[in-house]
Amino acid sequence: MKPRLGNDSLVLSFGVALYLALSGNLAFFRALLALAPAGTPAPLGLVTVSGGILVLALTAVLSLCALPYLWKPVAIAFLLVAAVCAHFMDAHGAVIDRSMVQNIAETDLGEAGDLVTLNLVLRVLILGVVPALLVVRTQVVYSGWRREGVRRLTLVAACAVVIPGAIAANYKQFALVGRGHSELRLLLNPTSPLYAAWRYWQKRPAPTVITAIGEDATRGAGERRPLLVVLVVGETARAANFSLGGYERETNPRLQALPILYFDDVTSCGTTTAVSVPCMFSPYGRAKYSDRKAKSHESLLDVVQRTGVSVLWRDNNSGCKKTCTRVPLQDGIELRHEAFCDGDDCFDEVLLEGLPGWIDGLQGDGLVVLHQQGSHGPAYHKRSPAAFKQFLPECAGAAVESCTREEIANAYDNTILYTDFVLSRLIGLLEPEAARFDVAMLYVSDHGESLGENGLYLHGLPWRLAPREQTHVPMLMWLSEGFGASRGIDRVCLEQGRHESRSHDHLFHSVLGLLDVKTRIYEPELDLFRPCRGAAPRLLSER
Ligand SMILES: [Zn+2]
Repeated sequence: MKPRLGNDSLVLSFGVALYLALSGNLAFFRALLALAPAGTPAPLGLVTVSGGILVLALTAVLSLCALPYLWKPVAIAFLLVAAVCAHFMDAHGAVIDRSMVQNIAETDLGEAGDLVTLNLVLRVLILGVVPALLVVRTQVVYSGWRREGVRRLTLVAACAVVIPGAIAANYKQFALVGRGHSELRLLLNPTSPLYAAWRYWQKRPAPTVITAIGEDATRGAGERRPLLVVLVVGETARAANFSLGGYERETNPRLQALPILYFDDVTSCGTTTAVSVPCMFSPYGRAKYSDRKAKSHESLLDVVQRTGVSVLWRDNNSGCKKTCTRVPLQDGIELRHEAFCDGDDCFDEVLLEGLPGWIDGLQGDGLVVLHQQGSHGPAYHKRSPAAFKQFLPECAGAAVESCTREEIANAYDNTILYTDFVLSRLIGLLEPEAARFDVAMLYVSDHGESLGENGLYLHGLPWRLAPREQTHVPMLMWLSEGFGASRGIDRVCLEQGRHESRSHDHLFHSVLGLLDVKTRIYEPELDLFRPCRGAAPRLLSER
């Protein structure tokens, strides 16, 4: 059968490419247009040439896949991926890069379910499924292999000439964009998300042998009071909405009344849970961190456990991202408590249930990590019980983009108010433990959140591009009475360091320092407590 215009593989490839460029790249074109300084004409030439190059490149890719049994699945995958990604790019200002793909791959059903909104379903149905069905119904006709070969080689050769030619002809503009705004390529859809998925697949950690770290770890000598460290890993709490850090709304009324230390300039390692959590428990720091390194090496918890400290991870989130693989874990099913849970969705108080019992059974020192659900969006309203809905009206749907900024802020602030309560209740539980232990509670959030500033929502932008709202995180500390004297730590000195610039890089080494773990991988300059170690710790024999 001879191809006609409507079912010729190259014409169809061009049609799909043109459709993808127009329906899936609104965020890209908008960002290009926004490059023009205010008062200057919009760079329409740049937009047209970029659009043309995008169509040509997509046509070339699709036509190279134009083989029976291959072209249709590829075209359908492109259409569906583009429709889904375009929704998140347009509605949330999201960027689908490798770490976002990792975040998607490692999330749980509950978290993912919150992102499925009516807007998403409608957009994917109309702009993805309908054209995909048209592709399914279209009969693609191929010419003989010789003619097809010649046509495709001609197309690829034309691309090889026209694309560099178009860039050369507009060199100045492309160079400016390339140098100053190379992040715009991350908005090209569906090429960028597909490339990110490919990179994730390539770089995913192979199931390798786990290499030990800190094998030389030992504890400082001397009989001392037992030590209990409680580390709360917050979720999506941003420093900007903590009244402890100056937010005008009273979101921390209970913590404000307690003798805590609030650190107001703390930066996260990543902008997603999948990056921040393993990074916080690794010794590498943000600059040297990689997912592969973290997943093929032991974590802070292994080092601490090796020195004889009892370690426990309690999880009300989507897991510990492989940082707690070799230590005791209590998660969803085990922790579920009807007072705090609705199905699989539990309020963070569930993390406190049974904690005193575990502490009672401790022999020696203990480190417990409480991994919160915190302020995880977009369904913020699901993270605070009715009694904490103080800021109203709150956005009560998952489609944050269809709520007003005020409703979103209200729902979000209610989650912070609830975290304030959970942490203060935790401190209340820990206070009596001071009879037996020196107790330190450290809270730090994994990353921040955008709540509509500059049209951005949620989190997960590449760290370098992320606004401060996504990387500036709250961190606070509570120490039991007599802790300083007992452990040789000067509290006034800690107070003075509250405004210094800190980051997740400090966590690994500070916990080692706090537990007095000696190992070669410990970096004293990243230990928050180190500069404040004045007097020698008091030994039991001196009491
Ligand atoms: Zn997170």
